[in-house]
Parts: sequence; structure tokens; C-alpha cells
Amino acid sequence: MRSCDIAIIGSGTAGLAAAVYAARANMSTLVFTGEAFGGQIATTHDVENYPGFEDGITGPELTERMRAQAERFGAETVFDHIESLDIEGPPFTLNGRADTYQAKAVVAATGARAKTLGVPGEQRFWGRGVSTCATCDAAFFADAPTALVGGGDSAMQEGLFLARFASKVYVIHRRDQLRAGATLADRAFAEDKLEFVWDSVVEEIAGENVVEHVRVRNLKSGEISELPVEGFFIFIGHEPNTELYRDKLELKPGGYLKADDLMHTSVPGIFAAGEVQDDHFRQAVTSAGEGVKAAMEAIHFVENLPSPAAKSGVLAGSG
Ligand code: NAP
Repeated sequence: MRSCDIAIIGSGTAGLAAAVYAARANMSTLVFTGEAFGGQIATTHDVENYPGFEDGITGPELTERMRAQAERFGAETVFDHIESLDIEGPPFTLNGRADTYQAKAVVAATGARAKTLGVPGEQRFWGRGVSTCATCDAAFFADAPTALVGGGDSAMQEGLFLARFASKVYVIHRRDQLRAGATLADRAFAEDKLEFVWDSVVEEIAGENVVEHVRVRNLKSGEISELPVEGFFIFIGHEPNTELYRDKLELKPGGYLKADDLMHTSVPGIFAAGEVQDDHFRQAVTSAGEGVKAAMEAIHFVENLPSPAAKSGVLAGSG
């Protein structure tokens, strides 16, 4: 069993930004990576919209730098996956695959995952033509033909953004009606670069070394067509990684963690940051900002605990 002041579950930009602030406030801080270090941004090849990097930075490098910054102040990165959280606390108990941990405050920063199609080519071209974020990647497809799948608000909003760069945006939707609200739908219909491909599903994303075309099947006629595209975007919804908190912390409709403006969850001492609680902005930089807010509140929580549970500033060793 190991003990710390602040446990941060998740190593994306929310978790790592929280770690910088927590450790710099002299809190003993453990950051749990989960299955893979770095969260969603670490799977993005080029990040051009994170302030401070005028020439862009790769997702892995950004998260590595944030980790180095947090470790410089004494945060420890723990390559463990937290499988259960005991909310009776403080101290709160976190059961990992490798060890058990106790923390006086917890920052839940487990993020979200974009839903994917599971079709051939999707994983192969991930981050190299296939993306789930036009805000992040549209600029790579200047004057190039692209396609997206989805018929909701995100698909329309991101499709309109994509149209600022791309020569064409095929909007592939499985029905003949959009789910998106009227305002975004009307704007999408008015954009000449968007071409709607109704009643259709994507069967394959194909190419030699980069995406060259998508194979599409019309659900009504059965007809197969190949659309020549260089970029392919998937907007079929997100799933927050909230399995750990189910029946313990209050969730919002859609399954996201409920947190107030100060990032407090329904349990005092447990804070939430990033896409696990944000179903709107979903940007690396907004997640980092929320991580900072959550850490500042966690620090305040620990500092105000009555003794002897109050801040020790010392990381207990294993064993
Ligand atoms: P969403 O509303 O759930 O829409 C998902 C879309 O993907 C739907 O059109 C759905 O088709 C399609 N889809 C789902 N699974 C699919 C699959 N396996 N294959 C093909 N298509 C699939 O998700 P969202 O657009 O990300 O929006 C999430 C929430 O955020 C919504 O409440 C939305 O209103 C809100 N939002 C609002 C704004 C805004 O500016 N107002 C912007 C973005 C998001 P069906 O329609 O056939 O189900």
C-alpha cells in the first residue's frame, strides 16, 4: 500500500496539468497512467492548436513534456491501471492492478474515447488521415477531398470547420435525416462544399500508405461506391471513461461525471477534470485548464483537512 496527498487518475492533458500544480504546491502526487500513458492527445500526430508551440508539437511530445514538468516538481508517474475506487474517505482507496493506494484527495481525469466504426483501415490510418477531431486536423487537408461520418451536431459543426480547408466534404450518414439541430443543419445544407451521402455506411478506409478512398454501401439500394478522399473524420459520439465511478459519483445524462464550476464531484475530496466531465469543448487545452482548477481545489481540500489526516508532504513507500 502506498499513500499520497493527491492521486490523479489519468495521464492526459487534464491529469498532467493537475500534476504540475499539485506537485508544485508540495503535495505528494501520484499520477496513474491507465492502460497507456498520455490519453487521447498522445494518439494525435500533430498538435497545432496548443498554445505555446508556434510550430506545432506531436501529441506524444506534448504529454512527455508535461510529464517531465510535473516530475520536476516531484510528481510520480505510476504505470498502473486503477480498477476500483473506494469513495469512503479521506483517505480514499484506489485499487490498481499492481498495488493499492491511499490518497487524501483524488482528481478523476480518465478522459473519454471517441466512438469508432471498427471498419478495416480505421486503425491502420489512425492519425494519418483518419481522425476524430476536425478542429485539430482539418488544416492538414487544405484543398483536399475529405469525408466524414455522422449526422449529429458534432458532425455538422466539425464538417463546417473542415469545409474551411478541404476542397470537398462528403457527409456520410446512415439515415436520410440529420440528428443535428435545425440551426447547424441549415448551415450545413447551405455550405456548397458539403455533399450529403444519405442512407449509407462506410465499409472500408483504403489506400496504399495514406488514405486514398473510402468504400461506402447504400443501405437501401445495396450499391457500393468508392469516394476518393485524403482525410476521413468520424463523429459518431463519445463515450466517457466513467466505469470506475459508476454508482459512486453522480453522472450527467450521457454518462459524463457531474462536476460543478470548481470541478467538485458529488463526493467531497474527489474532483473531476477534462473530458470525463466535459461533453462540450473537448480540447486538450481546455482539459489542461480544468486539470489546473481541479488540482487547486484538491490542494485546498488537503490543506484544510483536520490533523492527523492533514497534509504530510511525504510520500509513503511501498510495502
Ligand atoms: P450524437 O448527437 O449522438 O450524434 C451521433 C451521430 O452519429 C448520429 O447522427 C448517429 O446516427 C451517428 N452514429 C452513431 N453511431 C454510428 C455508427 N456506428 N455508424 C454510423 N453512424 C453512427 O453525437 P454528437 O454529434 O457528438 O453530439 C453529442 C451531444 O453534444 C449532443 O447532445 C449534441 O447536441 C451536443 N453538441 C452540440 C453542439 C452545438 O453546437 N449545439 C455541437 C456539438 C455537439 P443516427 O442519427 O442515425 O443515430
